[in-house]
Amino acid sequence: MQVSELQQIYLSLGANLGNREANLQQAIELIKERLGEVIAISSFIETAAWGKTDQPDFLNLALLVATNYSPLKALTIIQEIEHQLGRERKEKWGARLIDIDIIFWDNQVISEVQLTVPHPLMHERTFVLIPMAEIAPEMEHPVLKRKMKELLESLEKQEATKS
Ligand code: ATP
Ligand code: CA
Ligand code: CA
Repeated sequence: MQVSELQQIYLSLGANLGNREANLQQAIELIKERLGEVIAISSFIETAAWGKTDQPDFLNLALLVATNYSPLKALTIIQEIEHQLGRERKEKWGARLIDIDIIFWDNQVISEVQLTVPHPLMHERTFVLIPMAEIAPEMEHPVLKRKMKELLESLEKQEATKS
């Protein structure tokens, strides 16, 4: 194993099939076992599906994790956990037992074929920003240079004018 400095990373988890809460709890346990220490867990929130809306509601949350692994190794571990929990890759943004996305990797900006961090759509998703604003309200997005609570406020205003 490559030993590097402990990194603080934020993950967004979601589930909209099966026993959603149990899937999320199991994912948290496997993250603790395989990826690193879970430092913070947000509330679980129920949200309507985003992008492809004709599917069951999601249960979402955010985690702060401290890990020694590299970003690509962490992505592999996350995908193994998804697979173990029964995730099948079918259509884009389709229903799933579990989804685990890397939102932030400390303040780093990562552009690899398999991994883009910060997650490129996080600031357009209330299901990511509500849990993030709960556990890290003052954290600043390393590219947009705005705090989680500010990004959430802007998005909520934007959505209010749409409807
Ligand atoms: P979205 O990324 O828009 O939330 P999704 O979660 O439904 O969509 P998946 O099918 O779970 O998409 O993942 C597709 C690919 O996205 C993965 O195989 C992975 O290589 C890539 N990927 C790129 N950036 C990230 C990231 N920050 N976190 C997780 N996966 C990522
Ligand atoms: Ca996702
Ligand atoms: Ca994903």
